[in-house]
Amino acid sequence: MVDSEPSNRALTTTRFSELKPPISEPVIQALTAAGFHLCTPVQAATIPLLCSYKDVAVDAATGSGKTLAFIVPFVEILRRCPSPPKSHQVMGMIISPTRELSSQIYHVAQPFFSTMPNVKSMLLVGGVDIKTDVRKLEDEGANILVGTPGKLHDVMERLDILDFRSLEILILDEADRLLDMGFQKQITSIISRLPKLRRTGLFSATQTEAVEELSRAGLRNPVRVEVRTGA
Ligand code: ADP
Ligand code: MG
Repeated sequence: MVDSEPSNRALTTTRFSELKPPISEPVIQALTAAGFHLCTPVQAATIPLLCSYKDVAVDAATGSGKTLAFIVPFVEILRRCPSPPKSHQVMGMIISPTRELSSQIYHVAQPFFSTMPNVKSMLLVGGVDIKTDVRKLEDEGANILVGTPGKLHDVMERLDILDFRSLEILILDEADRLLDMGFQKQITSIISRLPKLRRTGLFSATQTEAVEELSRAGLRNPVRVEVRTGA
């Protein structure tokens, strides 16, 4: 994991176990097992909003703890879904700009995804042959997809066996970099295939005009969360 400026990671006095609405016990246990007790400012602000079904546009510096700020509510929302999903029913998607970042998110998320024993996740990034990914998805299905826009878009184009109609939550991480790297078209195309009634979280380290525009196109009445360095 990339370590970053400790000043950006100042903790609040708010415990994860004190947040409202309350986080489920298995997720608190996974946080505790990983050594996380107190929220960073961006986590304290964002988790309750997403858990209350608000869209969020989050602008907070690198190292401020954005990964858990979306993984915790992502898992909480999926845990609330009543029946175990069908094998090819995709309930949640996390998009990030690079293979390394997607792998890192996938790795950090594993203990939290594991609190849902009937839910299967898959990492979809460049460097793996698309045919291998497609075959695996056809054979095994997946309920959570984590990956890069290029690969996710390719998979959605090629595979109509995946069912996105009951997708609950979409996360766009490092939105500023996603746009800098020229992924606007793939992201717009991915979003156009997802149900409108979903939660969306957009996370960014800088607020640019392009991020604003993506936020207007992909989010519904978003609550803006801004955490300045050292806050
Ligand atoms: P960002 O995505 O905002 O750049 P990360 O989510 O990668 O930040 O987190 C940066 C570092 O802070 C990671 O090493 C992570 O383990 C650590 N971290 C995140 N949340 C907490 C927390 N609540 N308590 C202690 N450390 C944390
Ligand atoms: Mg990050």
